[in-house]
Amino acid sequence: MKAVCWHGANDVRVETVPDPKILNPRDAILKVTATTICGSDLHIYDGYIPSMQAGDIIGHEFMGEVVEIGSEVRKLKVGDRVVVSSIIGCGQCRYCQHQKWSLCDNSNPNSWMQEPLFGFGTAGIFGYSHLFGGYAGAQAEYVRVPFADHGAIPVPKELSDEQLLPISDAFPTGFMGADLCNIQPGDIVAVWGCGPVGLFTMRSAYMLGAERVIAIDRIPERLKMAQEFGKAEVINYEEVDAGEALKEMTGGRGPDACVDAVGMEAHGMGLEGFYDKAKQSVRLETDRPHVLRQMIVSCAKGGTLSIMGVYAGFLDKMPMGAAMNKGLTFRMGQMFGQKYIPMLVDRVQKGEIDPSVVFTHHLPLEEAKQGYEIFKHKKDNCIKVLLKP
Ligand code: NAD
Ligand code: ZN
Repeated sequence: MKAVCWHGANDVRVETVPDPKILNPRDAILKVTATTICGSDLHIYDGYIPSMQAGDIIGHEFMGEVVEIGSEVRKLKVGDRVVVSSIIGCGQCRYCQHQKWSLCDNSNPNSWMQEPLFGFGTAGIFGYSHLFGGYAGAQAEYVRVPFADHGAIPVPKELSDEQLLPISDAFPTGFMGADLCNIQPGDIVAVWGCGPVGLFTMRSAYMLGAERVIAIDRIPERLKMAQEFGKAEVINYEEVDAGEALKEMTGGRGPDACVDAVGMEAHGMGLEGFYDKAKQSVRLETDRPHVLRQMIVSCAKGGTLSIMGVYAGFLDKMPMGAAMNKGLTFRMGQMFGQKYIPMLVDRVQKGEIDPSVVFTHHLPLEEAKQGYEIFKHKKDNCIKVLLKP
């Protein structure tokens, strides 16, 4: 089959590789009908995720048709059309039982690699390095889905692939970003980053009762999407100081909750931007935490920070004094896909939201390299790329 293989920073290639096989009785094999490039794939593409090996198949946001099932698969049958959570969960451990799917104890065979860094291992993720299980990714014609009864969710025929595909990752991530804000009536939620994750966070914040949503980015067409699709008031941080603007827009109080939908490759400005870029490039710092620093300082006293942007390692110059003295709550994590997916499919079916609008580019899988370049540099007004195997 054809698959997108990683060969180093800024080097992905569409190659012919062996077809996946059932390895465990709880596996299913999926024929991928649509897959996409996530902001998280860019961290791999840019070479910031450790433990990648040349030839690894990448990609984790996908849907498709079940073509084979293992002998212990109970809920799925051949021919089912499913959307799959990017996070792999066993469904039986303490974490999965409590719907904390990205913390699964059993789905990451390489959790020993994480333990020295994280203390405990976390769940496996499709196509997301050996640290996260070494699973083959889904930017491919076929993919093996472990614990398929839990991760692959059958979807209604009347919805299109474009409407359903973001429910594999970007939409539940955005929803969880809003959910972690513990939104109360009257709350103002600020969202950093107007990519797919940020846009879905904005809509989800309203679904959960936010009074106002303010979005921060610098790319004009993304800010426009935040206004139109996200129903947000917007701040272009290259034109005004985002912290000052937030204070002014919230009557001097600051937003009640701040969501990071940017992550470790945040664009920084001035001396601070230069500092992080230089330290990250020589690996003295693994992540560029501009957004986190700004959220801590901008957030209202007693407010909540919800961090969905991915961080990988060690962060510098964090204003913990401000966070501590302001009594902020930090919540974060890889998303709990299986918890949110059925509810989000339901909302799409009821017409509450049409996730397909994020797809600005449709490309055949063979043109994945071009897709990565367009999405990375946000060329040609790109919000999100759909790849068709
Ligand atoms: P994206 O690259 O499309 O969007 C990121 C946006 O952030 C861009 O529009 C960029 O202009 C903006 N940005 C950069 N620096 C900024 C700054 N200093 N202030 C404000 N905005 C800034 O990516 P995406 O697909 O929307 O993903 C966003 C983040 O969410 C990534 O870090 C990705 O890894 C993460 N993610 C996490 C999960 C999870 O389970 N936690 C799942 C999916 C994606
Ligand atoms: Zn589990």
